[in-house]
Amino acid sequence: MTQNNACYTVGIVGVGKIARDQHLPAIAANPGFKLVASASRHAQVEHARHYTDIETLLAAEPELDAVSLCAPPQVRYAQARAALLAGKHVMLEKPPGASVSEVEALRDLARQQGRTLFATWHSRYASAVEPARAWLANRRLRTVHVRWKEDVRRWHPGQDWIWEPGGMGVFDPGINALSIVTRILPNEVLLHNATLHVPADCATPIAAELDGIDATGVPVRAEFDWRHGPVEQWEIDVDTDDGLLSISEGGKRLVIAGEPVALGAEREYPALYERFHELISHGSDDVDVRPLRLVADAFLLGKQVRLEAFGRG
Ligand code: NAP
Repeated sequence: MTQNNACYTVGIVGVGKIARDQHLPAIAANPGFKLVASASRHAQVEHARHYTDIETLLAAEPELDAVSLCAPPQVRYAQARAALLAGKHVMLEKPPGASVSEVEALRDLARQQGRTLFATWHSRYASAVEPARAWLANRRLRTVHVRWKEDVRRWHPGQDWIWEPGGMGVFDPGINALSIVTRILPNEVLLHNATLHVPADCATPIAAELDGIDATGVPVRAEFDWRHGPVEQWEIDVDTDDGLLSISEGGKRLVIAGEPVALGAEREYPALYERFHELISHGSDDVDVRPLRLVADAFLLGKQVRLEAFGRG
């Protein structure tokens, strides 16, 4: 086999909703990876050797090439560090850590270890993103408006970690919008202020509004809300001198100056594993902390508004 046709053995860690919905099918469909092991406290994966924690997996699987970390962000750093020290290539679900400094430390460690670290942003692989980026590259922007709203009870049933410190609350989906914004806009975004709406029984916000500018002064506003329903609103509007660019359905639809743009089929997670394979094969990494840094800035600048208890759980 040539290096680019290599098949890497992979272990999946944290077998919950996203591991089952997306990672397992994407790995099964990619001839460049073979799932051989899983580590999860309760869940197991058919046809893969099972361990209850990553330390046991790493000790028992010295030949393993890579791990894909799908547990909540609060445990990401410890798991990634252990895997890198054991010589594995590491793919991180979004958000890549519970803090910016954790992710930067992992990037340094991966380089010291000569291993690939891939901090994934799955929404950047939505079909609207690259055409939007290309169209915006030479445009004069007027305003940017993000609306990322959904029903938390529908999308996160029983996920207690989202309400705990490091779980990020409504920024868990909101960071997907920020990952798209930081990819498609020609200039960096700077936050000026934020309002965080935090229920009395939660440590993290259920809604947030962010205001800022891009580096040329274009106003940027984002509204995140988990009390929205029944139809999700995952939209980004960028107004320009040449008309309005609208991304909707989380990146599945794109309309430019009133004209729908024909897009390829949705394949975010297959594309993530193709990219991971390419990075390992080329001995490189891909770690962009900017979406996480904007969330950190929102917490730094944010005015907290306390709400009545939400009734989490
Ligand atoms: P989830 O359903 O709660 O699954 C995560 C799994 O990780 C749990 O089932 C649990 O399995 C394991 N785990 C290990 N340590 C844990 C801890 N301290 N607390 C809770 N669970 C722990 O969450 P998810 O929706 O799959 O999300 C996981 C990550 O993927 C998050 O970073 C999220 O932002 C990202 N993501 C989610 C989606 C989505 O649609 N859900 C989409 C894209 C990305 P065991 O009990 O077996 O250990």
